[in-house]
Amino acid sequence: MSDTPQSSPIVSASGPDNPLLKAWQTPFQTAPFGEIGPEHFLPAFEQAFIDHAAEVAAITHDPSAPDFANTIIALERSGRLLAKVSAIFYNLVSAHSNPELLEIDKDVSSRLARHWNPIMMNAVLFGRIAQLHENRTALGLTAEQLRLLERTYTRFHRAGAGLDEAAKARMAAINERQAHLGTTFSHHLLRDEQEWFLELGEDDLDGLPDSFIAAARSAAEERVLPGKAIVTTSRSSVETFLKSSRRRDLREKVYKAFTARGDNGNANDNNATIVEILALREEAAQLLGYPSFAVYRLEDSMAKTPEAARGLLERVWKPARARALADRDALQGLIAEEGGNFTLAPWDWRYYAEKLRQIRADFDDAAIKPYLALEGMIAAAFDCAHRLFGLSFSERKDIPTWHPDVRVWEVMDAAGKHQALFYGDYFARASKRSGAWMTTLRDQQTLDGDIAPLVINVCNFAKGADDQPALLSPDDARTLFHEFGHGLHGMLSNVTYPSLSGTSVFTDFVELPSQLYEHWQEQPQVLRQFAKHYQTGEPLPDDLLERFLAARQFNQGFATIEFVASALMDLEFHSQPASTISDVGAFERAGLEKIGMPTEIAMRHRPTQFGHIFSGDHYAAGYYSYMWSEVMDADAFGAFEETGDIFDQQTAKRLHDDIYSSGGSRDPAEAYIAFRGRKPEPEALLRRRGLLETPQAA
Ligand SMILES: [Zn+2]
Repeated sequence: MSDTPQSSPIVSASGPDNPLLKAWQTPFQTAPFGEIGPEHFLPAFEQAFIDHAAEVAAITHDPSAPDFANTIIALERSGRLLAKVSAIFYNLVSAHSNPELLEIDKDVSSRLARHWNPIMMNAVLFGRIAQLHENRTALGLTAEQLRLLERTYTRFHRAGAGLDEAAKARMAAINERQAHLGTTFSHHLLRDEQEWFLELGEDDLDGLPDSFIAAARSAAEERVLPGKAIVTTSRSSVETFLKSSRRRDLREKVYKAFTARGDNGNANDNNATIVEILALREEAAQLLGYPSFAVYRLEDSMAKTPEAARGLLERVWKPARARALADRDALQGLIAEEGGNFTLAPWDWRYYAEKLRQIRADFDDAAIKPYLALEGMIAAAFDCAHRLFGLSFSERKDIPTWHPDVRVWEVMDAAGKHQALFYGDYFARASKRSGAWMTTLRDQQTLDGDIAPLVINVCNFAKGADDQPALLSPDDARTLFHEFGHGLHGMLSNVTYPSLSGTSVFTDFVELPSQLYEHWQEQPQVLRQFAKHYQTGEPLPDDLLERFLAARQFNQGFATIEFVASALMDLEFHSQPASTISDVGAFERAGLEKIGMPTEIAMRHRPTQFGHIFSGDHYAAGYYSYMWSEVMDADAFGAFEETGDIFDQQTAKRLHDDIYSSGGSRDPAEAYIAFRGRKPEPEALLRRRGLLETPQAA
């Protein structure tokens, strides 16, 4: 740091004045956000790429024979600056961006790909890793070290580092084409969605809530149709319309447009794109020695095989289908009661289901909102972490943040020792992308000293109007606990190596700590203590609490069916030989017929609009993950329920040791069995969704 007074305001971003490249004099060495400007990122990334490339070259060309320290640990130590700069940059891009940062992001993402590709395809480096992997049982490694070696080997192997030059070249070409096709798929879908809307005349508003009409007017304004109101193909617009519109003819129009997205035989049609994506995925998997993409994808997961994932989905499918069929009969009964002379169609389901919900559950989200103040729900989340894991939280005002709304708490363990910092960024603003997420600015590790994590939760809650406290919807409150559960996964991490820290686990395991934590939010014991009316301070009345909990089980047959059908079709698309899928629509119809899909329910995502699996490959043959994690979270919470105490200390200790603190240092299936004493069973999920009882026909 220079101590010469600055006479000129011009400072070099790449010189010693770049705050991203200096040691930080802040509490806990946190990032000095107030000093960091967009101009500092490119030079810092530049330096980080140079450092990292030099570190990797030193490992690759180390003249001594490979050993665990000079190869695997050295790789763990490499790229620190890159990790630090990336964490700060992507936090800002997501939570507090501006056009300058977004422009830099375009540059940075392609530079990152160009930086990582030669490392992950480096044959000499992979040779060292493979040699260690081959001799792994003779190296005298601890369990965590063995796991680290296996994860490192797998990462390089699955990227194609072990292929011959011709296969590598083909793999690179496939990757490039896949990236292009994924973008094409999303752009087609987006254009099909933008081109369609339904204009609502004054006679077309029957049944629609005021909030929907207001949103329909502003959607029209966005499309330069001032003074009009339109239904768009966004999910929230469609679902609210189908739930509330009394105009059956319009419901049919909206439903048909929504389910036909990407499948209209126009310039935006996605069918050919899907056929090509599936063929390329299969070819890439076969280059790496796997029979299908699903086998390749599932090998690196907790489920391990497509059969295991499918087996679980089928166990949920049967009772959900029985419930959906019984609900269908009840809805048909309601139509008859109203004097309707037609058969329930897919565009009628949500409308009559909503009517039935009002009759049976008598619950409206708006009634509970005054009891769900943000402050109370934060206190509830902290209190549960205190009772389960002994953590305590004290707010700190001296930690630099990226926006004045961000709050920071110091987290102490049961012995009063510093454990982590927790940043809560709760309110929506224009500079933040939508959704809610957890991320870290620094991961826990002990490789070189005791590094405590810096964990962030970002949400998009509405601020309270006119100095009133912010009030959450039931979904918001659940989201807060969900993200805090991910947060605990990061804060409680207790591993040696950074790449195994916290949430660095399989996609079908990572939602367990978050979804599990949601269970405490809906416990009467927790709600009675923390859900207090924001004006009167009176606790949530029992009768409202009961109706709230009962309403959560409503229409779960439908919700489960539309999800599981999509997950089963995802596995089917990636398991069957690509050469047999030339007609996507015919393949879809045959697949749905095989599982007995009720004709009144559509898949949550039909193939031509299934962005999760075709816009990129993160969830390809992996859409089942959500249900897989849900089975585990319901089953895991059962371990507490069985003791009769939702804060049972022995169970909480196992949960801490086996799940929340072990990061990626253990095989997740073993970790789960260590916690629960057996494999996860789907009964608890079925009970929670209300699918266990024998459905009664109406
Ligand atoms: Zn999550």
